Amino acid sequence: MAKYNRKKITKLRKSHIGLSIFALIAISTLGVLMMLILADFALTFLINTKAETDAGRLKSMVDAYDTQVKTGDGDVFGLFDMQEVDYFVTDDTGNIIHSNGENTCDMTRSVDYSDLTVVGQDSYHQIKIYSDRNSGILNPVLIISSEVSARQTISSLLEIMNDEITDKDESSIVKYEIDNGMVSMPYWMCSNTIDGKIFYKGGLTVNSSDLAFIVLILSTLAILVVIIVVALFINVIVNFVDQQRMKKLLFMDNVTQNHNWIRFYLEAGELLEKRKNANKKYAVVNLVFVKYRNFVLCHSVAEGEMELRKTYNKIREHLDRKELCGHDNSSSFALLLMYDDINALRDRIQKLIDELSCINDHHTFGFQAGVELIPASHRRRVYVDVDALYNNACAARMTLAGTDESGIAFFDQKIVEDHKWIDRVHEHQQKALENKEFVVYYQPKYDPRTNKLSGAEALIRWKSADLGFVSPGDFIPIFEENGFITEIDHYMIEHVALDQKAWLDQGLSCVPVSVNVSRAHFIEEDLADQIRDIVAGAGCPPELIEIELTESAFFDNKAVMLRTIGLLKEYGFAVSMDDFGSGYSSLNSLKDLPLDVLKLDAGFFRDITDDSRGEIVVSEAIRLAKNLNMKTVAEGVEEREQVDFLAKEGCDMIQGYYYAKPMPGEEYISRMEKRESEDEGSGEDT
Ligand code: C2E
Ligand code: CA
Ligand code: CA
Repeated sequence: MAKYNRKKITKLRKSHIGLSIFALIAISTLGVLMMLILADFALTFLINTKAETDAGRLKSMVDAYDTQVKTGDGDVFGLFDMQEVDYFVTDDTGNIIHSNGENTCDMTRSVDYSDLTVVGQDSYHQIKIYSDRNSGILNPVLIISSEVSARQTISSLLEIMNDEITDKDESSIVKYEIDNGMVSMPYWMCSNTIDGKIFYKGGLTVNSSDLAFIVLILSTLAILVVIIVVALFINVIVNFVDQQRMKKLLFMDNVTQNHNWIRFYLEAGELLEKRKNANKKYAVVNLVFVKYRNFVLCHSVAEGEMELRKTYNKIREHLDRKELCGHDNSSSFALLLMYDDINALRDRIQKLIDELSCINDHHTFGFQAGVELIPASHRRRVYVDVDALYNNACAARMTLAGTDESGIAFFDQKIVEDHKWIDRVHEHQQKALENKEFVVYYQPKYDPRTNKLSGAEALIRWKSADLGFVSPGDFIPIFEENGFITEIDHYMIEHVALDQKAWLDQGLSCVPVSVNVSRAHFIEEDLADQIRDIVAGAGCPPELIEIELTESAFFDNKAVMLRTIGLLKEYGFAVSMDDFGSGYSSLNSLKDLPLDVLKLDAGFFRDITDDSRGEIVVSEAIRLAKNLNMKTVAEGVEEREQVDFLAKEGCDMIQGYYYAKPMPGEEYISRMEKRESEDEGSGEDT
């Protein structure tokens, strides 16, 4: 997983519904604010409408009064009185010259303008208190000047009344009147006439329809806000549930119901990158349940998964607080362990493997561990590529993959080199075949009793233009792994058959040459036919070709093997068992397979001279072969004593450095020529 992706996933893991909650709070607050603003707006709208009506009336009264003063016509007061408004009119000295309606003034009194108590002032108006000396009631009076709109005036009055008039004797101020469920707030408006002033009693009245209007607007808004908030709340809950579900899917392993690889990967990265963990030594481990698939095949997926759960739980029991585990894939687990000493770490893993191997009462399981060590660092590990480390641990584990046994392998640079080599071989193999870079060498086999050439083995050599001289041990196992070995086997059989045919045509005294056929190849059902066709195609008699099978191949598919060997023999080829005694015991196979030649593995002869037990095994093997009508070939014989011993025991052929190393065809021809001349010599003798 790339660094960038890791960041993205880390973010996801740490993500929460904070944003949704923030949106919920923000929108709720915004809704409430909007309600307040709207309420204020509705109120202001109401006030303004009322105020403008009052101010308009006063203005028209003043206009009418002034017109009458100028013209002397009409009865303006009578007109005013008819309108049933509360007002009084003063002359320029403040004497009340007319009064009407519900007010506290009467004609005997006058208004002392200077006595209007100033209670407050805004940028436009003076707000004054008109004190009714008779009743002691203070009336707020608004001095309207024509330039300023009544709207602003009333708003200012309300403000000032609230702020300042309330400081005075509350009880003496007419602030609100409640009548028949309606709320009204009376105030006086005053405007100058030509010769005095008109005081007009206005009032801010909120009646039921006004209230209904405000309530309607506010409740509509409130319902809207509640709907939005509830929707958001539901969204937050749904988001939260979704997020939990997504996290579960992403970070939880379905089989073990515990941490999966992604979770392990992220937590391991975070742990290793923590400043305080920089000086600690860690190991990334790839632990594999060997043959898990086989277990599932023989039992069931459910039983297999139960074993994986038990495995996970057992691993967890072994972990310290600051160690991690995650289920990677079917049979693989990732572990992050702390360690001080490598041997102690190995013992610890071994102990875990031992315990894991018996988690099931009826089966013994195998577990293999690959380990990549992360040394302590003197400074903070800024970015740790857990993926790469785990990959190394897996690569180390893969070195054990050839066996089913439990084991532990540590990663080292050689594994990388090996893999690089495998890649290079893979890259060059096809071109090498086309360019005829594969050369056939022949290693003669001699009869130890007569010292005469009696056979040979064809062995491949790779003279690569790019890789130099490569010995078979360095590429044959790779070809076996990647399947290219089948092409090589065909190539070798054809090459040897063509050589044999050419030598026959040259009149050389040819002996059977054995060719190795790989185990991977041997499972092909029509292999015998393929070989027959190749050899026949080259015009070579089948008796001159022997097919070598390696001992371990006998375990793969016995039925196919039996059939192929039977056919090969029927077609006239000899079949030998290579490397007998090198690995698995194949005595049983000897019983079943009609083989012609038994090739005793070189391992038998390494210390044969001073080991009588070894001698016993070899002589018994030779006897066994003889009893089964098989010839014996001893491989890897380098010493004279070994030759003597084998001759004495009746071994038919020896293939070893004592007689000859593998050699190019030309050199091998001279061996055949020598044999021929010896034959002729002995023929002459007899
Ligand atoms: P192998 O089939 O067991 O071949 C015998 C190996 O033992 C050869 O190694 C040979 O050089 C070596 N040898 C023979 N006598 C002695 C001796 O006295 N001392 C020592 N130290 N070694 C001796 P080589 O040629 O390196 O081949 C190694 C293996 O590679 C072969 O083991 C065989 O398994 C495989 N191989 C070689 N050529 C082919 C081939 O054409 N096809 C296939 N499938 N495998 C091949
Ligand atoms: Ca061989
Ligand atoms: Ca061999």
